[in-house]
Amino acid sequence: MPLRESEAIVLRTTKLGEADKIVSLLTRQWGRLRAVAAGARRPKSRWGSQLEPMTHIRAWIFERENRDLLRMNSADLIESFFGMQKDYDVQVAAQYLVEVTEHMLPERDANERAFRLLVAVLKGLKNWKEVNRPLVYFDYWMLKLGGVLPDLEHCLTCGRKLEREGFYRTGSEGLSCRDCKPVGARMALPTDDLARAQQACSKGLDKWLETAPAGSSSPVRFFLEEIIRTHTERKLVTADLLESGA
Ligand SMILES: [Zn+2]
Repeated sequence: MPLRESEAIVLRTTKLGEADKIVSLLTRQWGRLRAVAAGARRPKSRWGSQLEPMTHIRAWIFERENRDLLRMNSADLIESFFGMQKDYDVQVAAQYLVEVTEHMLPERDANERAFRLLVAVLKGLKNWKEVNRPLVYFDYWMLKLGGVLPDLEHCLTCGRKLEREGFYRTGSEGLSCRDCKPVGARMALPTDDLARAQQACSKGLDKWLETAPAGSSSPVRFFLEEIIRTHTERKLVTADLLESGA
């Protein structure tokens, strides 16, 4: 099988035997995949900093017949996003990007928009040293690309336009109006904040970051993260059930 080339973001690496590493990648051409980097655990390996988490590389990948794992033959550095992770908040944000990417995107399912999204969000974190808006942007678009972004303007139950705020209960798939507010709804989101976030996310992330921070998008971010959690947990439960043969 031929050697193929793609841009990729390194999500994480895990040890494989004495000398190798398995690299989890989001590639531009083929989506998320895992490949073996031979010799990457050796002290003087030729891989250098290319395999640090969140590094943008150009990877040469080789498919091996009758083997599950691909093989990465070599990689060139395009841009490092490793240094910015010295900042603790950015490091936690980067970890979050990895987890959501691995949970939301199936393996070997090409998704170039998700790749471009991840690169844009990493550049946002690096260039603007702000965590909040890049993560709102990431959450919004991961949900939208996955086709599971809730309606941010209408009630989930009755379909009426939300007035001043939308109510959310953990585990629910969207927002409800005051009349349909579910028992145990703990989060009330101002519709102004939702509209502002939605409008900002419809443009490029840089455009948003160029404006002064509004300081009010955190509740929106927590809401979007809850929706992501609900979807990934549902998926994980399904995967567990499939594995146990239920
Ligand atoms: Zn309603």
